[in-house]
Amino acid sequence: MTDPAGRSTLAEAPPTTGPTEADWAAAVTAVRAAVGGRILLICHVNPDGDALGSMLGFALGLRRMGVRQLQATFPGPMEVPDPFQGMPGLGLLVPEAEAYPDPDLVVCFDAASGSRLGSLADRLGNAVSVVLDHHASNTRFGGVQLVAPRAAATSVVVDELLTRLGVPLDAEIAECLYIALATDTGSFRFDMTTPAVHEMAARLLATGLKPGEISRQVFDTRPFGAIRLYGDVLGRAEFDPDAADGRGLVWTYATQDDLARYGQRPYVLEPLIDSVRCAAEADVSCVVKQVGPSEWAVSLRSKGDVDVSRVAVKLGGGGHRFAAGFTGRGSARDVVDAIGAELDDAVIDSDDQR
Ligand code: AMP
Ligand code: MN
Ligand code: MN
Repeated sequence: MTDPAGRSTLAEAPPTTGPTEADWAAAVTAVRAAVGGRILLICHVNPDGDALGSMLGFALGLRRMGVRQLQATFPGPMEVPDPFQGMPGLGLLVPEAEAYPDPDLVVCFDAASGSRLGSLADRLGNAVSVVLDHHASNTRFGGVQLVAPRAAATSVVVDELLTRLGVPLDAEIAECLYIALATDTGSFRFDMTTPAVHEMAARLLATGLKPGEISRQVFDTRPFGAIRLYGDVLGRAEFDPDAADGRGLVWTYATQDDLARYGQRPYVLEPLIDSVRCAAEADVSCVVKQVGPSEWAVSLRSKGDVDVSRVAVKLGGGGHRFAAGFTGRGSARDVVDAIGAELDDAVIDSDDQR
């Protein structure tokens, strides 16, 4: 859906749930005022396609506006997962230690809370800040908040802001935003894949993108060692039919030893949740990925009867109704037990379902 000006992929969101006209105007004013200054872009830790694509697509847009002092960063090691190594704008990335200590403007992407920015969250303290996000669980941190819970991806918000800034799409910006949109919609399969999302994809593709090549690089290319690792991890999946008040939970885990055994980096574990959630018998699925001696990155998915963001928020994380995550402590079994204890309360009454 577009308005008479031909924009607004967000038009389906009721105004109360997304940014107001005043929010958009404040964001445009903040960005225009900073064009001659230092602009720092930050996306969430362990960036996914939406975080990186939204940030770099916006970065390239700022370049087109004439911004010279521009950095993009995220907390943690400056390692870009192989699937995103072809993304335009990667040259703008700097390690967090090199990020401007005192930027004039900070723009954050795809982070539901300040904690997802690690120690970079301190940059929000003195600078003007604009937050672009689409998590219902967003804690409304930062200055100007462009939070659109009904948007399929943060890149939808970026697209709208670039339009309002008068920056036309080009093939490089479009590739970043397309990767972001395709990753967060599960390649245009999830419910939030509205007509407006396809219209945005059409505009992006019209710049000359090659969706087959992009998809192969982003979704369908992994090292051989990862294939064998998937065998181990999927082979130990467990099914608990009683979880979530009888809706069922299927889950598995991957350790740092698993990664070491096959010489793999953590990013290769990300697609596993998509295999685990296929199990017909379970409404809820989960992959518990070891990130430290007793620390686990948890991916949760639901097919509809359970609001997994409730579970994630209870356990210190966030996300969306059908896809959420948090950092778990203890053993993998401890983490799954903690999830199990929250699942019954996260079952949605059928009256609540839209
Ligand atoms: P993932 O399973 O990593 O693809 O994440 C699913 C959703 O949960 C995404 O929207 C993430 O932004 C969100 N999420 C994952 N981990 C966390 C966390 N530790 N804190 C807050 N949100 C998270
Ligand atoms: Mn994300
Ligand atoms: Mn996202």
